[in-house]
Amino acid sequence: MTPAFKIAVIPGDGIGKEVIPEGLRVLDAAAQRFGIQLEYRHIEWASCDYYAQTGKMMPDDWKDQLSGMDAIFFGAVGWPDTVPDHISLWGSLIKFRREFDQYINLRPVRLFEGVPCPLAGRKPGEIDFIVVRENTEGEYSSVGGISYEGTEREVVVQQSVHSRIGTDRVMKFAFELARQRERKEVTVATKSNGISISMPWWDGRAAEMAKQYPDVAWDKQHIDILCARFVLQPQRFDVVVGSNLFGDILSDLGPACTGTIGLAPSASMNPERKFPSLFEPVHGSAPDIYGKNIANPIAMIWSAALMLDFLGNSEGAGRAAHDAIVKAIETVLAQGPRTPDLGGAASTTDLGKAIAALVASDT
Ligand code: ATP
Ligand code: MG
Repeated sequence: MTPAFKIAVIPGDGIGKEVIPEGLRVLDAAAQRFGIQLEYRHIEWASCDYYAQTGKMMPDDWKDQLSGMDAIFFGAVGWPDTVPDHISLWGSLIKFRREFDQYINLRPVRLFEGVPCPLAGRKPGEIDFIVVRENTEGEYSSVGGISYEGTEREVVVQQSVHSRIGTDRVMKFAFELARQRERKEVTVATKSNGISISMPWWDGRAAEMAKQYPDVAWDKQHIDILCARFVLQPQRFDVVVGSNLFGDILSDLGPACTGTIGLAPSASMNPERKFPSLFEPVHGSAPDIYGKNIANPIAMIWSAALMLDFLGNSEGAGRAAHDAIVKAIETVLAQGPRTPDLGGAASTTDLGKAIAALVASDT
């Protein structure tokens, strides 16, 4: 028997507390069917409730408490009425990302039957790609400053920081991922025709990495035309890799093009497993619908699928569990039940139960 994976379960705030139980319901069904051992540790902190009681988002020893975990299964954080977003976010998720070196942010983009697509004429199955974002450096550095502040000569400079190690590891991840997929294609987002030092260098690192993957086709595309192609020719893509800023933009644009931004999962990963990786829905805590049991749990459930795939190294039981969950999501999106955001009247719990039942069955 394989050892149990240790999962820290953090519901956080708002609908995070409503979708987490449905994520767990589906995880349990998948674990049972595919013989995966999961050991949960339920955590109340990293929430605005905890902040209200203690004046901080997390206990001082949060890192010790989480360090031995394989993954963090995270609902949503933020309750702007009581805690400003920058405090709740920087006091929890951003700390995880940095302290646990979660340098890959991954977002799958798929078009499902039953979800209205904002792009005309697209068929389900036609759009199926993954955006890989560098998550720790690049344009989101704090290097720079303002000179002659408050005068007419005011000048502001903010530098991008791309390290060879930081760039190579995200490229490697993207090429490895492509190698596992049917199409085996990598698109590298760049802007080497405008950003004349860092981006030609970035392209060079991609070319260097590509030499090790002769079985993977790759090209680079400037971010402006790449965004246009997400909208006009989304069927062209398989694995798309971008720096922190470009990846950030593409990882919202991608799901938006399939109408699934409300269904989208995300993984923030430390692939070497030196630290726990984090799996969470893209959506926030949605205070406007909290407490009604109408939040759509699919983003949380899809995140659970990504987590099992990661834990199982994208093979064996982990991959099978991932595929079964995604197939169950596909079925429920096509046939119902549907929560109000998809035009139905079903509850959060109804969807969780329907998906868990499909995952539990062999068909
Ligand atoms: P963030 O906290 O990530 O900055 P946000 O606060 O801007 O995000 P959300 O909390 O995601 O936004 O909510 C945006 C809108 O989408 C709200 O109207 C919310 O009700 C709706 N929404 C978000 N998630 C869901 C969901 N799972 N099911 C149904 N509606 C949702
Ligand atoms: Mg919010």
